[in-house]
Amino acid sequence: METAHKNILDLSYPQLKELVCSLSEPAYRADQILWWIYGKLATSFGEMTNLPQSLRQKLAEVASLTSLTPVDETISADGQTRKALFRLDDGKTIESSLMLYEKTGSSRERRTVCVSTQVGCNIGCSFCATGQQGFERNLRPGEIMEQVLYFMRLVSTEQLSGDAATDPARRPVTNVVFMGMGEPLANYEAVWQSIVTLNSKHGLGLGARQITVSTVGLVPQVRRLAGESVHVELAISLHAASDALRNKLVPVNKKYPLSQLIPACRDYFKKTGRRPTFEYALFQGVNDSVNHARELARLLEGMNCQVNLIAGNPTACQEFTPSPMKRVLAFQKILRDSGVSSTVRVSKGVDIEAGCGQLRSRWIANSSTP
Ligand code: SF4
Repeated sequence: METAHKNILDLSYPQLKELVCSLSEPAYRADQILWWIYGKLATSFGEMTNLPQSLRQKLAEVASLTSLTPVDETISADGQTRKALFRLDDGKTIESSLMLYEKTGSSRERRTVCVSTQVGCNIGCSFCATGQQGFERNLRPGEIMEQVLYFMRLVSTEQLSGDAATDPARRPVTNVVFMGMGEPLANYEAVWQSIVTLNSKHGLGLGARQITVSTVGLVPQVRRLAGESVHVELAISLHAASDALRNKLVPVNKKYPLSQLIPACRDYFKKTGRRPTFEYALFQGVNDSVNHARELARLLEGMNCQVNLIAGNPTACQEFTPSPMKRVLAFQKILRDSGVSSTVRVSKGVDIEAGCGQLRSRWIANSSTP
């Protein structure tokens, strides 16, 4: 294996073993390195004190451990949502967020990181800040994993959560959602490698249920994901239950219409046992009427699934204003009366522009302001 300078986080487990072997070290050194990275949150090879000094030196010569630089951070007024903007090694920027959920009833306390998978996005959803920015490039696996590691370090050092602070066995991050900038399934290989690392005992050791991939519905990739070895949760950004409206809101629907997407979701459940979630952001006068709700109920009739209703995030676009809560609840009632399971989600971090791409949009605008 050629040992040109590389980011260790970009390597899969077999590739890391190959690297250490190429440095004339036994393969088990790879396990030790990963333990330092994901267990001890090390940021330099120098910290890896159970590796021989010569190996630490060699690693520092041929590889790096970081490629993201935090350049901006915002915290919501309630302290429950943090958003970070990172500069990549080529100067491009991405954003990620950490959302803290307190223990309620049957649900456990969660510390969820929402990661980006692309710089920009070429899907072009009409209501989305990232969609307006255009596509620049895919993220590498290491750039995805480093977003998670950043927040793990933050939780560990700042002790943001009582649970994480008092119980050393608890992970600083409990859930990872691929819901930030970009379409995860359009960057399939890097996203899949990240899922493997998140799930692996050599990585974070998160359960497959603690990992969610959110997609606009790239049908071939949804079917491919269903056949993989780690059965993650699947969320579909639906937002409309007719092709006519969805073609406008989520233009990829023209390529993969509902007649293809819905069967792929049914099959995902059959193959993985994971009940798909349909995300439906409600925008006033766009997709939030009684008829829209009935249409959605008909589309999902008899399907083992969950609908997440959320008042859409405010964007710069006047056409899309979030539906008032009264309307969201009326929409939910129609679904409930039709036997479709749904929850109303509170849009976290609206005061800090937590909708995907919003912080980056502002940062880009400010950077280009003389
Ligand atoms: S909503 Fe997601 S898929 Fe659509 S443009 Fe925004 S980032 Fe891309």
